[in-house]
Amino acid sequence: MLIDSHAHIDDDRFDADRDEVLARASAAGVDLIVNIGADMASSARSVALAERYPQVYATVGMHPHDAKDMQEQDYQQLVRWASHPRVVAIGEIGLDYHYDLSPRPVQQEVFLRQLDIARQTGKPFVVHEREAHADTFEIIRSTAKGLEGVFHCFSGSVETARQYLKLGYYISIAGPVTFPKSAKTKEVARYVPLDRLLVETDSPYLTPQAYRGRRNEPAHVRLVAEEIAALRELSLAELARATSENACRLFRIPAV
Ligand SMILES: [Zn+2]
Repeated sequence: MLIDSHAHIDDDRFDADRDEVLARASAAGVDLIVNIGADMASSARSVALAERYPQVYATVGMHPHDAKDMQEQDYQQLVRWASHPRVVAIGEIGLDYHYDLSPRPVQQEVFLRQLDIARQTGKPFVVHEREAHADTFEIIRSTAKGLEGVFHCFSGSVETARQYLKLGYYISIAGPVTFPKSAKTKEVARYVPLDRLLVETDSPYLTPQAYRGRRNEPAHVRLVAEEIAALRELSLAELARATSENACRLFRIPAV
């Protein structure tokens, strides 16, 4: 059994064949999918998918790209959604200084306030961070004490991973680990302790090497898991069991 811990199957690129995509995931041994909200509209779609499909759980949150659009009432809506039994985390939230689609102080404020919501509602968080490690680490270190969380599509160094692991967080690895040139991510995939590692697709993005250039989908989390299992000299079953247990523990999903 595998869990795709981070996917966006609410994306309109899945509108034509979402049921087939989910069937292919099941056929590939991907029994659960955590669908991630990235703004208010996709958070609402995420909750709706989790209500419709028993194998889908939802997260809700505002991505740093869209932090500038965050309204006061949106925070209240996130709190309301967080009490939904199939909403398992606040996210994806964080900082993105690569695209800088929202002003950095706004990104920081919206990130901080959503970490507050995670605390207030007792949920873990899902972090998106790109080229913003120093500020992300400082915010997490200073304000997220006692919270649980995962750093999704981790693209940092072993040293950065070590800092987050030391604070008790999880690291999630996505499709780029299958790219021949991703030496740093392969090194991280070998380094993270087996009880802190998650796997994900970030579908429809970050398609693994074998299907590069095409839409990604949750079934392909198997390719991510196979790559990491090979790097760690484990069987796919061992890697799948560990990463699924970790996802269930972090998101408090009853083991399936
Ligand atoms: Zn994402």
